Amino acid sequence: MSEAENTKELKLLKDGKRLDGRDYDQLREIQMQLGVLKRPQGSAYLKWGGNKVIAAVYGPRELHPKFLQDPTGAVIRYTYNMAPFSVDDRKRPGPDRRSVEISKISAEALASVVQVTEYPNTVIDVFVEVLQADAGTRCAGLTCASLALADAGVPMKDLVASCAAGKIEGEIVLDLMKEEDNYGECDLPIAVLPNSEEIVLLQMDGHLTREEFTKALDLAKVGCMQIAKMQKKTLLEAVKGGEE
Ligand code: ADP
Repeated sequence: MSEAENTKELKLLKDGKRLDGRDYDQLREIQMQLGVLKRPQGSAYLKWGGNKVIAAVYGPRELHPKFLQDPTGAVIRYTYNMAPFSVDDRKRPGPDRRSVEISKISAEALASVVQVTEYPNTVIDVFVEVLQADAGTRCAGLTCASLALADAGVPMKDLVASCAAGKIEGEIVLDLMKEEDNYGECDLPIAVLPNSEEIVLLQMDGHLTREEFTKALDLAKVGCMQIAKMQKKTLLEAVKGGEE
C-alpha cells in the first residue's frame, strides 16, 4: 500500500480532476485484444487502467453430470477468479463469497444475450482470470467475456458492455479506480446491452440519494456505450484482419 493510500487524508479530487488526472466523466484507458489463447474456442484480453483480465470460452459442449443439463438450452457457467498476485496483499487462492457472487451475476448477464436454445443439454464455460486488479474487475471481466464469446462464434443477440460509476467526495464520477473505490462513498457497477440499452446487471455498494443515483446510472450507461463502441471496433478489426 502506498503512503498516500495509507493516510485517511487522501484527497481524491483536486482542481476538478481526479488522482490520475481524469475528468469526472472519463474512462480509464482501455485496450482490447481477441484470440489470445490457442485452446479455447474463443478468448480475449482486456487492459483497463490498472486491470488486466483474460477471458476464455469453452463450448458449447455436452454438460456432465447429465442431471444438470437443460433440454431447452445451453447452461452458461461463468468462473471469475482473481490470481493470488493480482492485488497488493497476496489473495488466498480459490473461490470465495465474492468470486461466487460475481460469477453468478455475470453468468446471468451473459445468459440474457446468448441464444441458448440453439444448444440444448450443453454448457458454455466462460473463465475470467483477473491477472491484475485495480477496481472495476467485475465490469472488466464481463466486457472481456462478451468479446471472448463473440470470438468463439457463439450466437448472441447483442454484446454486453459493463462499467461502473460512483461517488467520491460528493461528486458523481465514471469508472472508479482502486483508491476511489476504497475511499469513495459509493460504487455502482452496471452492464448494458448496447443495442436495446437494456440493463442486465446493477449493483450498488454505498449510499446515494435518488438524484445522485439517477445521475450515476446515466453516467455509467454513457460509459457502457463507449465501451460497446470499442468492443465493436475490436470485433470488426478482427473480421477484417481475417479476410486479408
Ligand atoms: P470490483 O473489482 O468489481 O470493483 P470490488 O469492489 O469487490 O470488485 O473490489 C474492488 C477492488 O478491491 C478489486 O478490484 C481489487 O483491486 C481489490 N480487492 C478485491 N478483493 C480483494 C482481496 N481479496 N484482496 C485484496 N484486494 C482485493
